[in-house]
Amino acid sequence: MKAEGNVQSIRSELESIARWAGAKAFGVANLTALKKADPNLLARVGADFPRAAVMGLRLQKAALDGIRDRPTPLYFHHYRQLNYQLDTLALRIADHIQDEGFRALAVPASQVIGKEPMRGAVSHRAMGWAAGLGHRGRNNLLVHPEFGSRMRYVTVLTDAPLRADKPVRAGCGSCRACVAACPAKAIKMKTENFDLAACYAALTEFTKIPFIGQHVCGVCVKACAGRRRMISAE
Ligand code: SF4
Ligand code: SF4
Repeated sequence: MKAEGNVQSIRSELESIARWAGAKAFGVANLTALKKADPNLLARVGADFPRAAVMGLRLQKAALDGIRDRPTPLYFHHYRQLNYQLDTLALRIADHIQDEGFRALAVPASQVIGKEPMRGAVSHRAMGWAAGLGHRGRNNLLVHPEFGSRMRYVTVLTDAPLRADKPVRAGCGSCRACVAACPAKAIKMKTENFDLAACYAALTEFTKIPFIGQHVCGVCVKACAGRRRMISAE
């Protein structure tokens, strides 16, 4: 195990591993602070951790291009490939932390363990927000300052006392791109009014599209192109 004074070097090593694997975002969340607001934050994990390393990979513009008002089989495949890459990266990050003598748990990028609402073991969106990677947008997704919602994230929980980042204090401003784009009219001007039931109903319909079969959409992901929207939006 590293001496306390050297623990912070682990953080830079983890970021190097993530960047080398193509991560466009890396941050650390202080879960002690987050759990004060949500005591059930880690209830589905079955163990307690004070920190989370959160990594994000960018979705490719070309894979989103064919999306209009529903997902395409090409996007669905790309979505799954990114989840696979994120899971692989999370395992490497967790392995490195364990080598340094700390506990680490790689949370799957897209494992559903509950429905209505759909949920995984932890909310990568909430973890990413606490790790300073973006704000929660009108589309109920994390909005990265550069890449918008065209990102996917994964979380590694740990007891390594890594230096934590601070949440971003930002909002959607005058942007309404996703509000008009949503086929379910689920996106409202206020994030807290997001209609989860309408969104879930649309995603359930999309499972009937040939070669999709799962709850994915991609419409509001495509609409939220971040600062690069001038060159990446259609
Ligand atoms: S995922 Fe699709 S249905 Fe749900 S809010 Fe986004 S655009 Fe609307
Ligand atoms: S598209 Fe605009 S309004 Fe919608 S989440 Fe992104 S920044 Fe916010």
